[in-house]
Amino acid sequence: MTTQQSLRVAVIGAGPAGIYASDLLIRNEEHQIDVDLFEQMPAPFGLIRYGVAPDHPRIKGIVKSLHNVLDRPRLRLLGNIEVGKDITVDELREHYDAVVFATGAVRDRALNIPGVKAEGSFGAADFVGFYDGNPRFSRDWDLSAEKVAVIGVGNVGLDVARILAKTADELKVTEIPDNVYDSLQQNQAREVHVFGRRGPAQAKFTPQELKELDHSPTINVVVDPEDIDYDEASEEARRASKSQDLVCQILEGYAIREPKDAPHTLQIHLFEQPTEILEKEGKVVGLRTERTELDGNGGARSTGRFTDWPVQAIYRAVGYESDPVPGVPFDSGSAVIPNDGGHVLDPVGQPVTGLYATGWIKRGPIGLIGNTKSDARQTTDMLFADAAAGRLSRTVSDPEAIISLLEERNIAYTTWQGWYQLDAEERSLGEAEGRERKKIVDWEEMVRHARAVPVCV
Ligand SMILES: Cc1cc2nc3c(=O)[nH]c(=O)nc-3n(C[C@H](O)[C@H](O)[C@H](O)COP(=O)(O)OP(=O)(O)OC[C@H]3O[C@@H](n4cnc5c(N)ncnc54)[C@H](O)[C@@H]3O)c2cc1C
Repeated sequence: MTTQQSLRVAVIGAGPAGIYASDLLIRNEEHQIDVDLFEQMPAPFGLIRYGVAPDHPRIKGIVKSLHNVLDRPRLRLLGNIEVGKDITVDELREHYDAVVFATGAVRDRALNIPGVKAEGSFGAADFVGFYDGNPRFSRDWDLSAEKVAVIGVGNVGLDVARILAKTADELKVTEIPDNVYDSLQQNQAREVHVFGRRGPAQAKFTPQELKELDHSPTINVVVDPEDIDYDEASEEARRASKSQDLVCQILEGYAIREPKDAPHTLQIHLFEQPTEILEKEGKVVGLRTERTELDGNGGARSTGRFTDWPVQAIYRAVGYESDPVPGVPFDSGSAVIPNDGGHVLDPVGQPVTGLYATGWIKRGPIGLIGNTKSDARQTTDMLFADAAAGRLSRTVSDPEAIISLLEERNIAYTTWQGWYQLDAEERSLGEAEGRERKKIVDWEEMVRHARAVPVCV
């Protein structure tokens, strides 16, 4: 028999996973659940705002559907609060019946090859943070390299390569802030080389992203016909996945067509394993790769044949990695919160009562925004089952207690109403230039607009 309860849940991280989880929580019919959604940035939306490339307005537009969730009365956004620093997890546990971690990922996974620290060797996540106007990242970027390498054949590698190969004016119509446009205007890149160590059937691109590269009139996409090769496992991978098969077809199309007359070349190199970043006087002067070949099982083996590619900048797009939240178990090997699909697990593998995880912090930094939806459902179903079984005990009932605590600490928290104000300001800055939005990149300025009228939660 289920027991009807009124619960208060804190969700940490206002990216897609946290927002989808909040939506499921407040719409639950078995229990009356109120949610406070904590976010460290002054604005919500996680990697939709600070990861998805600016020239992907359709994907950025997902925030419109997330607006409907955040407009609901039983959900409060509390932004500009870093959980683990401004407020501890133990404090949250005193104020809420359950805490759901949806803290995602924001930085690059390490790539351990010689030369990785040379000047001109960049992490893709840092570049993404720059061009997407994340206030935590650099405000200008050295774009003096004419030839650039991107390591990694996933969508982030493609985003980075495409932004480098497009002109600043092609990107001016997007939401990029002025500092990004100014840096991109200095961009000298003429050749962008993307490297992957296996073949077409193992590339991690999605078909749409790969095809879209060709939409820019300034980019000639090139694939060497020598780089198209399949073994039995590759053929099986194509048969098993329509999407992978499409990726192969698009790469084959690029390999056999006549070159396009465009000022910038973007070449995708397959079967080239980066082995060393070449440096001179501390600066990148090239990338050394080793040719690989398929081993019959969809893996790649070395051939002992090396090539040095003369490039002056290298972007490492080998995946994102999550950070731990102080006070919560963390598996540093796989860089996720240990979990059983929803519950946070303690060091001996037992569920920690009232703590849950969802999104990239739960399953690692793979998958699209859409995947976070089913993921959130799996987590919240576990929470509902615990609530129904009486495993979540009510501690503090006053929703104002947490607000008093934040105010006692002089934390300049932002709210959903504040987002509307910041949003209006960014839209008006954009409209003045004939675009939908121009992002505000300065943290204090974001907070100032978000708190322009008295904060009310
Ligand atoms: C460069 C890039 C481009 C992408 N492009 C696309 C695309 O075009 N289409 C697509 O479908 N998917 C894309 N993705 C994938 C998509 O962004 C992810 O699937 C999705 O954002 C994961 O959601 P999440 O909520 O788990 O994590 P995140 O989006 O990372 O959200 C986590 C949130 O938690 C907050 N947070 C972290 N720590 C704390 C803390 N201690 N206290 C308070 N708040 C905290 C963060 O600030 C952030 O807002 C892209 C990803 C990247 C990296």
